[in-house]
Amino acid sequence: MKYNMTEFYIDGTWKRPVSDATADVINPATEQSIGQLALGNEADIDTAVAAARSALPAFARTSREERVALLKKVLEVYTARIDDFAKAISLEMGAPITMSREMQAQVGIDHLKAVISELTELGFEETLVNGDTLVRMPVGVCGLITPWNWPINQIVLKVAPALAAGCTMVLKPSELTPLSAILYTEVLHEAGVPAGVFNLVHGEGSVAGAALSRHRDVSMMSFTGSTRGGVDVTKDAAETVKKVALELGGKSPNLVFADCDLESAISEGLEACFINTGQSCDAATRMLVERSVYDRAVEIAQAKCAEMSVGDPAKSGGHMGPLVSDRQLFRVQAMIDIGISEGARVIAGGPGKPEGYETGYYARPTVFADVDNAMRIAQEEIFGPVLVMIPFDDEEEAIAIANDTPYGLSAYVQTADNARAARVARALHSGMVNINGAFLGAGSPFGGVKMSGIGREGGREGIAEYLETKVIAIPQ
Ligand code: NAD
Repeated sequence: MKYNMTEFYIDGTWKRPVSDATADVINPATEQSIGQLALGNEADIDTAVAAARSALPAFARTSREERVALLKKVLEVYTARIDDFAKAISLEMGAPITMSREMQAQVGIDHLKAVISELTELGFEETLVNGDTLVRMPVGVCGLITPWNWPINQIVLKVAPALAAGCTMVLKPSELTPLSAILYTEVLHEAGVPAGVFNLVHGEGSVAGAALSRHRDVSMMSFTGSTRGGVDVTKDAAETVKKVALELGGKSPNLVFADCDLESAISEGLEACFINTGQSCDAATRMLVERSVYDRAVEIAQAKCAEMSVGDPAKSGGHMGPLVSDRQLFRVQAMIDIGISEGARVIAGGPGKPEGYETGYYARPTVFADVDNAMRIAQEEIFGPVLVMIPFDDEEEAIAIANDTPYGLSAYVQTADNARAARVARALHSGMVNINGAFLGAGSPFGGVKMSGIGREGGREGIAEYLETKVIAIPQ
């Protein structure tokens, strides 16, 4: 597979960058360079935004039917190339190929289908009870900034609803995972997205990302990444008063009550924390367990964690891949050391690399028991395979601990008592709650409260983010 890493996609063609900056893209399993990526600067962003601006009037006027047809074509071309996406994601960020195909690449289909269904139903005009007419119009040129952990998931969750709404856009994907973004650009081109509607510029957050956020011709920024990055984008966007949507970090609680099926709740809880090598914003990283079953839960977690293996992402199977980068490995190792110094008990894994994996950014799946929610390992997002287990005495305390976090992205509840599940779900400060192993369907609004972000992605609410409201009053 060849990837065009030296050019940007602007106004329907691949163009040489103005900037001459480059960076190596690293395969995290081998620590070897995959190739040199061109890094754009302010001038490159200017060119891309100008193309998006010129394409806006015509694209904003397209009918819903035309945009449904376009998105269906994108779906068809993407589906035909899904194996290319699975390979690219596995290569650039280390997701094991089976998971990369079944989850990382597959969600690109699921989210797109959900956007198409919602767009088919969506009302763009309505008459209010007072007789005025409400019109929903595209926001305008959108700046889209995405992270590396679920690279296609994030791109599709922004590009598809922006297209559905009639917006034009500039995408700046993570500089760590440009390959899947390049392939997606090829898909959009082949599907017939008109020139200038979608533009791709690679680059660093502090250079290309900041230039996009500050640009006066960009009407909205949609950002997914760290809370720090989201704060920077918001500040940069403020001068030109643009709409900002943020999908940020999390430290999601998993409340395990004594009446649940403990064996499967703990096993699945570990999986929900360690999937994607723990690099998911909605990972269930804080396991809160009712004290009467806490010791048993720790034993189950220890045994389950011992069964988990790491391995080469190119090989099929259910193993865990490496972390994305040396920086991420350093951060995870530092947090494991901090947990130990805070007095938490390591019951599985621990510092250092797994045996036999000196090369590659591999970490040991690690579980800490006897964690206090005030510890840094319970408060800070680690973004690696590290689970903390915290005991609680009753429902009230469980909810208090769950909500005692700066984040509010997702939450998980395990109980056989349906009334309690419903009560606890409503008391949790989070954008999403998953009960007894259920997961959100594609098209459900994804996003969080507090430091986890502003706005929602996916389905109808995801499209709504890219629409602005206008009201028209006429004599009655
Ligand atoms: P990051 O913030 O470092 O980078 C994310 C993207 O933002 C990259 O494209 C980067 O180049 C860009 N960026 C960085 N600083 C920027 C700046 N000042 N201005 C403009 N752009 C900037 O985050 P990351 O390490 O790539 O991703 C991991 C983080 O993303 C985690 O905290 C995770 O929880 C979060 N995340 C959240 C969601 C969600 O939906 N809530 C989804 C995935 C990841």
